Amino acid sequence: LARNLDHLASQPAETADGHRVRLMVNTGLMADVVRSLERGAEGVGLYRTEVPFLLRDRFPSEEEQREIYREQLLAFAPRTVTMRTLDIGGDKALVYFPIDETNPFLGWRGIRVTLDHPEIFLAQVRAMMKASLGLDNLRIMLPMVTGIGELEAARKLVKRAHRELQEEGYDIAMPPLGIMIEVPSAVYQARELAERADFISVGSNDLTQYLLAVDRNNSRVASFYHPLHPAVLRALHQVVEAGHAAGTKVGICGELAGEPGGALLLMAMGYDMLSMNATNLPRVKSALRAVNKADTDELLKQVMVMESPEEIEKSVQAYMKQVG
Ligand code: PEP
Ligand code: MG
Repeated sequence: LARNLDHLASQPAETADGHRVRLMVNTGLMADVVRSLERGAEGVGLYRTEVPFLLRDRFPSEEEQREIYREQLLAFAPRTVTMRTLDIGGDKALVYFPIDETNPFLGWRGIRVTLDHPEIFLAQVRAMMKASLGLDNLRIMLPMVTGIGELEAARKLVKRAHRELQEEGYDIAMPPLGIMIEVPSAVYQARELAERADFISVGSNDLTQYLLAVDRNNSRVASFYHPLHPAVLRALHQVVEAGHAAGTKVGICGELAGEPGGALLLMAMGYDMLSMNATNLPRVKSALRAVNKADTDELLKQVMVMESPEEIEKSVQAYMKQVG
């Protein structure tokens, strides 16, 4: 089996009829890095920076962050590492920064927190940029963006941090700045956001939760959580079309990208990059290499007119069985 995996790791992520997709990984711990490289990841589509924050009992200093980020960037260089700015709130709480709310998923989360605390945001992006010195493989991504204003405000801060670092003598390129599309409002403004962002990436975990009004962690409503719900698929399709109309690359880094059936539908929709847990990467690559893009286009056409998640799930399962 190890030999099979090795073999697959060096094979391109492309369909039998030659359509290529970038397969990247989601990371948080250094342990994810080794596995990812062994499996032939083309880079990191989502580095969850809150993970090192969650493992501490106080905010890591700018220098501590620089060291952590440097390790990630070095391990993957020259491949791209997409670092997401701190995404706390919701279900992710820091013991040293308590947020007490009755409705945390609709509360102070992600970019809202760090725009209210520019000192946290600035220390983080300074640490990321310093860590990228001489490597040039950093991309910065913003979580929970609901509209243009947050992207513009964050860009101002990133530019300011970059200018200050240059004044301090660091010769670092300005990293590409992208956003996550994981809130319904961002789906409806995907075109405008994509025109202003250097890249966009769908967070299908939160997007599914918000579109279907289903808490992603509540087992009582787990049966309502359908990443292949017709409404979710329509949103996913709309985002990739809006992104491409703006000339912007579109990726996805939610769990759906790591499920072979989901990954094939996303590829058929035109997603340029799929980012997933390293564990799922070989399965997704193997599925991709087993199909023709033309056939997945046909599958997509069929499921896009179906009216229930169950019907779509059944079709995708049947197709996967046929693929083997
Ligand atoms: C998502 O919401 O799909 C996502 C990738 O981010 P997270 O799971 O960290 O919220
Ligand atoms: Mg999310």
